[in-house]
Amino acid sequence: MHARCSVCGEPAVARVEYARKWLCGAHFAGYVEGKVLGALERYRLVERGWRVLAAVSGGADSAAMLGVLAKASVALGFRLAAVHVDLGIEGFSEASRRAVEELCGSLGVPFAVVSLPEVAGVGLPELARRARRPVCSVCGAVKRYLVNVAAAEAGADVVALGHHADDLLAYAVKNFLFQRLPELAKLGPKTESTGGLVGRVRPLYEVYKSEASLYARLSGLPFTEERCPYSPNRSVEGEVRAFLDSVEARRPGFKISLARGLARNAGLWGQGPRSPPRACRVCGAPSEGELCSFCRLTLKALGRPMGDVAREKVREAV
Ligand code: SF4
Ligand code: ZN
Ligand code: ZN
Repeated sequence: MHARCSVCGEPAVARVEYARKWLCGAHFAGYVEGKVLGALERYRLVERGWRVLAAVSGGADSAAMLGVLAKASVALGFRLAAVHVDLGIEGFSEASRRAVEELCGSLGVPFAVVSLPEVAGVGLPELARRARRPVCSVCGAVKRYLVNVAAAEAGADVVALGHHADDLLAYAVKNFLFQRLPELAKLGPKTESTGGLVGRVRPLYEVYKSEASLYARLSGLPFTEERCPYSPNRSVEGEVRAFLDSVEARRPGFKISLARGLARNAGLWGQGPRSPPRACRVCGAPSEGELCSFCRLTLKALGRPMGDVAREKVREAV
């Protein structure tokens, strides 16, 4: 016998173990949307009249986030736009960009693409090679910088990130194990805007990865399944994720309890992102020293700090 939706009796497509429910496609989508709306309200992530800029990668997670936010923007009265950073990684970046264009087109969400090769003249792998730094660490820094500049230039009140509970918890537990405790302070559902840093919110804070993927698929949202060629095959985060999943399988809802605990206590571990005291002399971005991290990176890799060029290109794009 096939399982039936606990709400309407139609054939079920998903079992939500921690809620003890079988759900059909429509009720599963409504369930995920309800979870996100609940998080937006519980954690006060957005306010009526705000401009929300969603950072979208082209993958299933950010597609799910944008799909739910597009619906929520009508109900909660905020304005939604999207930004995508094209990293210039052969094959992967083209597929990601195409997916974002289709996604935003199908949802009617205005979007901008900020291209690293246009900003810096080289793609991410070459930038990292010349800077002699790991690709993923340069990637994080570049995306953070360009999304923040895009948000500031677009006059956004907040940036929405597609991190789901599995991402956040694996990262939090890893950092706890290594005792990098101040990192935990950055992992709550939101960080406030300070100085030149636009605040960030995580609407999928209590949504599991499997739920985000299934939501994107069932809602027919365009996304790419292409994997970044630099994503590590074996990582500590991967091991932690497998451990958390094994506990979740025996104790359904365990990960939600952890996410809520982290949301309550993230602030105890430090300040979270704060506005650095100075403005970069090249691009004006918040900076610890004379140059911001992006200008230092590009100076080392390319012989010239590129923050001013980046700001100009981003201004044209948004
Ligand atoms: Fe960036 Fe790819 Fe590394 Fe992810 S795996 S951080 S997209 S370089
Ligand atoms: Zn149903
Ligand atoms: Zn700078």
